[in-house]
Amino acid sequence: MKHNKLITFGLILLLSMAVLAGCGTNSGPLSGSVSTNQKAANEHETVKPMAETFFIFDTVVSVKIYDNRATRQHFNEIEALLNDIDSKISRTLETSEIYQVNANSGKSAVKVSPETFELVDKALDYAKRTDGNFNPAIGNLVTLWNIGHEGAKVPDIHLIEAAKALSDYRLIELNEDTQEIYLQKEGMAIDLGSIGKGYAADAIYDYLEEQGFSSAIIDLGGNIYAMGQKPGGKAWNIGIQDPDKERGNPIGTIQVEDKTIVTSGIYERFFIEDGKLYQHILDPGTGYPVDNGISSVTVVTKHSTDADALSTTLFVLGIEDGLKFIEDTPDTEALFISKEQKLYATSGFKALLNKTNNNYTFAD
Ligand code: ADP
Ligand code: MG
Repeated sequence: MKHNKLITFGLILLLSMAVLAGCGTNSGPLSGSVSTNQKAANEHETVKPMAETFFIFDTVVSVKIYDNRATRQHFNEIEALLNDIDSKISRTLETSEIYQVNANSGKSAVKVSPETFELVDKALDYAKRTDGNFNPAIGNLVTLWNIGHEGAKVPDIHLIEAAKALSDYRLIELNEDTQEIYLQKEGMAIDLGSIGKGYAADAIYDYLEEQGFSSAIIDLGGNIYAMGQKPGGKAWNIGIQDPDKERGNPIGTIQVEDKTIVTSGIYERFFIEDGKLYQHILDPGTGYPVDNGISSVTVVTKHSTDADALSTTLFVLGIEDGLKFIEDTPDTEALFISKEQKLYATSGFKALLNKTNNNYTFAD
């Protein structure tokens, strides 16, 4: 099966719409008009969101602001903000800071913006906490496998070994004083695909908050931030995608206020070769896609950067170690869905989930 970008785009759009269908009467069309001089959001139930969709980070980004004060200008600024993030952390954009860091691997340190520095620092924290199972130095393997893009196939084993040899996160050197990043081995490459969308969601959240908004749905291809409450003061309903079905089919919903919900799944970016599915989260130990019986992992917490890093982390760690890991992470809930349609959840997630699909059952 070829993973066509356009199809992905369509499916993601469908999901975005379906997820938000859970928002009930308040969910409006993909783009709404705004009338001025009306009451602010949350004062009455009839607020229609003002919405916009962008395509960036290889993902459909949809932002809905439930507030009559939202204007086109706000969305222009959100778009600028997304482009700015891309121009810092993209692995493939030749002008980006991360591209420069990678291009200078084994040669020289590169000074980056405080935002890029902090994000790499955060990714390294997760790498240390997981003994390198979460690994931002995985760039060469990601490029080699090319999963989610045209023509992806299982690479030659020698190429996998070579890429693996260039993915030691301990060789990422951060200099706090000079704000420089140095990759100690030539050919190394940082990839922030596991954390970038969460970072962008937080950035949009902060922008909206600064602008005085308190009710919004920020959705970066399933990396969701349900900001504040629905107009009218109720919790948001967010669907948990059925990993075996097309986007838009939830196994159930959770009710949340001011929380981020991030899922890493095998159904997103993958290819099939000789009947075997290869999904896009890689095991840095083997150099191959993780194949541990997990279909998806969903994380609910306050900051999307963490949720994004965590969803990838838990996926690589597997169910048993992942549940242990998440127990040590405060104010964070997680749900694992196995290929056998079993659910493994923290007690907090179990309490949140309103399961509507009986094919899925809790393991314990
Ligand atoms: P998505 O991009 O679908 O939201 P994730 O947040 O789980 O999914 O991130 C997956 C991406 O992270 C991959 O496409 C790749 O860029 C990168 N990646 C793959 N394996 C790892 C890993 N073990 N550690 C850190 N990043 C990884
Ligand atoms: Mg992630």
